Parts: sequence; structure tokens; C-alpha cells
Amino acid sequence: MVSSMGYPCEICGKKDAVSICLRCRRLICRDCMSSFGLCKECYAFKRMIENDRIRILDYIYKMAIVCRERIGRQDCARCMILREQILSLYKMLKDLMHEAKKEYFEDMMKRIRDIEPLLRGLLIRVIVTQGGLRLPEIETKEEVDFTYT
Ligand SMILES: [Zn+2]
Ligand SMILES: [Zn+2]
Repeated sequence: MVSSMGYPCEICGKKDAVSICLRCRRLICRDCMSSFGLCKECYAFKRMIENDRIRILDYIYKMAIVCRERIGRQDCARCMILREQILSLYKMLKDLMHEAKKEYFEDMMKRIRDIEPLLRGLLIRVIVTQGGLRLPEIETKEEVDFTYT
């Protein structure tokens, strides 16, 4: 890592290379090296990708807020489109989570951890409402009523 490799840096072409970029496999000098074992260019590319994904996460968050507002309305809570929308948002989030873990996108992971509980809560709510599940209290009450009639 520290000693010269006897080759010039493949990015600046000036200094001696001391490492190899993990992504593009080019020989790099200390000046052209960045975090995560990447060269400057690959690191910049990685940041660009992460910023792009964070913009998608912002969209997911905004849509989740819209869904949360709709789910509270009687006429929307049973709408199939709402259910599909929440499901697809959750799927998008899961895919991004997979990518963030694989690429070590720390900022992205943080954002996902903020959004995931909100979206999961909505998903459970819409499935309970639309799946025709009865709440245990209601069933118990009906049973009692039946017994005493
Ligand atoms: Zn260099
Ligand atoms: Zn590189």
C-alpha cells in the first residue's frame, strides 16, 4: 500500500503508483487515491450514484406521506390502487436497501432506516384493512353477543 510499485499513476501520470483502485483496477498514486480503496474518479462516480438514489428515496418518502394521508380517509383506505402503490413503494425501498448494503452507501442506509418503519406501518395497515381481517376485540364481542341472544 505504502511503497511505490515502480509504475506511474494511471490517473495523473505524474507520481508513482502505490495502490490499485478496487473498482477500475487502475494503478493510483497517493494523491489520486480516495476513500473505500477507490481512485478519485471512481469515488466521485460512487457519490453521484448515491446522490441519485437519495433523490429516489426522497420521492419514496414524499409518496409515503401522501399514502399515509389517504389511508386515513374512509373512501381511500379500501382502494386497491392505494394498496398497489404502497406495495410498489415498499418494493422499491427493498431494492435500494439491497444496493445500499452491497455498495456501502452509508448516507443512503441512514435515509432508508428513516423511511422503512413508516412504509412498513402503512403496508401492514392497508393489508389489515383490505385483507378482511377482523380485529380480535370485535370477534370476541360478537361471540359474547351471540351467546347472550
Ligand atoms: Zn495520481
Ligand atoms: Zn478507479
